Formats: sequence, structure tokens, C-alpha cells
Amino acid sequence: MNQPLPSIGFLGLGIMGHEMARNLLKAGFPLLVWNRTAGKTAALAAEGARVGTGPADVAQRSDVVIVCVSDTPDVEEIVLGPGGVLAGARPGSLVVDMSTISPARTREIARRLEERGVHMLDAPVSGGSEGATRGTLSIMVGGDATQVERAMPAFRAMGKTITHVGPAGAGQTVKLVNQIVAVVNMLAMAEGLLFAEASGVDLDKVLEAITGGAAGSWMLANRGPQVVARDWRPGFMIDLQQKDLRLALEVADEMGVPLIGAGLVFQLYRTLQHAGFGREGNQALAKALERLAGIEIGTGGVSGGGVVGAT
Ligand code: NAP
Repeated sequence: MNQPLPSIGFLGLGIMGHEMARNLLKAGFPLLVWNRTAGKTAALAAEGARVGTGPADVAQRSDVVIVCVSDTPDVEEIVLGPGGVLAGARPGSLVVDMSTISPARTREIARRLEERGVHMLDAPVSGGSEGATRGTLSIMVGGDATQVERAMPAFRAMGKTITHVGPAGAGQTVKLVNQIVAVVNMLAMAEGLLFAEASGVDLDKVLEAITGGAAGSWMLANRGPQVVARDWRPGFMIDLQQKDLRLALEVADEMGVPLIGAGLVFQLYRTLQHAGFGREGNQALAKALERLAGIEIGTGGVSGGGVVGAT
């Protein structure tokens, strides 16, 4: 006889969390959700999820609690803070943090939970909002192998490539590796498209010609068409991208490792934050290059020099 699926509590229904929770619901997990801004629970409730009153309530009523919020202090607040997961979690239950946060502070959160007999995995994700919707995320998991095995059916409902990469905190470290590679790819994509625009070639033909070749990447395939269409809606916001780069640069600094490309991209995004684009998608990195070059991608030519308009 098949084992019943564990009950899952899901905290944080943002761009990623909402879609990940929906895939758990579709896979048949009993699901209890909570979000700080209460209105974001409505669609999932209509599809069959129950709604909890707060992190402690959700933890008390769930075998596995998944967290997907913005930054390190946010995870600390909803896991360790007043009315947080730790206040409600049953000994033997499992907390899975799928946010991208500091590896060192992840180890400390895991230690605090283990002291009370509550297990933790760090399981940040990659694959963008598209991957969250399609259930094809890459999930990089840090923590104890027995708990990874326990969480595997839930991971399989949300992701395609699930890799146990090491002990507590290792998932977050690997996610930062992912972010370093991703942003430098984004810079390469934006620079290539800027050059193509200045050259006067058809940008759709450029994408068609090079996406399947050696220059191909997830960024080029998924964000390239958005840049050409000047679609700056967020799959992943610049403000959150900056948070990831800050984490990577902090860890690199502690290790004494230079991060040339990621450091440059961090500074370019900073100029966009100052210009008011922090809540746009990270593909808007192209705008930072446009401003330096006085050219706009996808508009069919040179802007006439000077600073390009805020579009
Ligand atoms: P998002 O759309 O901005 O959602 C953030 C979520 O966190 C919202 O549900 C928000 O609640 C909640 N939150 C933030 N601070 C909180 C706090 N102090 N207490 C309670 N809830 C809090 O962000 P997202 O794109 O889903 O990203 C979520 C995580 O996944 C981040 O760590 C991000 O780096 C990571 N990630 C994102 C992507 C992507 O492509 N978007 C890809 C991989 C990984 P409210 O609704 O009340 O604001």
C-alpha cells in the first residue's frame, strides 16, 4: 500500500513560492499556506489549499514546512522570530528553506532548529519563474541525507534536477555559484545584443542564429527575447538579484577570492537601482549598458547619444 503523502506547509507565496506551492497541490500533497500579504493566498485556496494564520500555526499542523521568502533576515524572522516556525514546529518535523540566503546564517538557523529536534534542509532553486511554473527547477540541497530522501517526493513535484550537494549551508553555497555564472551570462547576452543593435542586424535573426550554438545559454534563450521586446517585467527582480550578488561578494571577500565579472555586474545593477529600476526584471541589466552606449536595443537604432530614456 502506498504511504500517505506528508502534509506540507508553505510560507511565502511570491513569484516563485506561489507556483511551487501550486505544483505541490497538483501532485496531491495536503497543503497549508501562509503569506505575509494575505491576499496572495486566494488563488491557491480556490484550488484546494488550506490557509494558516501564521508561521507557527502552519508549522504546528505540517510534517514538512517549506519557506520561500526574500532575504536572510526574512527567513530568520519567520523561522526563529516571535510566532515563527520554531514556536510551532513539532520535534521530528522538517523545515526546508528554498529562499536564497547566506550560507553561514543558514548553518546557524539549522543549528537552532536541531537543538529543538527539528530538522532543516537548505534547498535554493534555479530556473526562474518559468521553472517554478513548469515544475522544472534545479534544486541544490544541503543537509542530512535522510532528510533529503524524506523531502524528495516534494522536490520532484517542484523540480527536475535535484542534487544533494553537501551538509547544511552547501545548497546556498552552490546557489551562489549558480548566480555568479548566471549574471555573467546576462552581461554577455546584453553586450552581444547591444553590439548587434549598433550593427543594424535583425535582432530576432541574431537570437535564431546563435541560441543553439556555442554562445547559447538559458539567459540567451529565455531573457534574450524579452530584452529584444523591451519587456522588463520581473521573473526575478533586480533588487533580489543584488541581494544574491551581495551574498556572493561577501563570501568571496571572506575567502579572499576576486569576483571580477560578478563584481562588475553588481555595480551595473546598482546604477539601475539608483535610477528606480530595482523592481524590474534582471534582464534590465541591458539598460545599464544602453545608458553607457547611448543606444537602445530593439528600437532600431542609435538614440542620438547621451543618456537613453527610462523605458
Ligand atoms: P518575491 O516575488 O518578491 O516574493 C517574496 C516573498 O517573500 C513574498 O511572499 C513576501 O511576502 C515574502 N516575504 C519577504 N519578506 C518577508 C518577511 N519578512 N516575512 C514574511 N514574508 C516575507 O520573490 P521571489 O522571486 O518569489 O523570490 C523568493 C526567493 O526565491 C528569494 O530568495 C529569491 O532570491 C529566490 N529565487 C527567485 C528566483 C526568481 O526567478 N524569481 C529564482 C531563484 C530563486 P509579501 O507578499 O507579503 O511581500
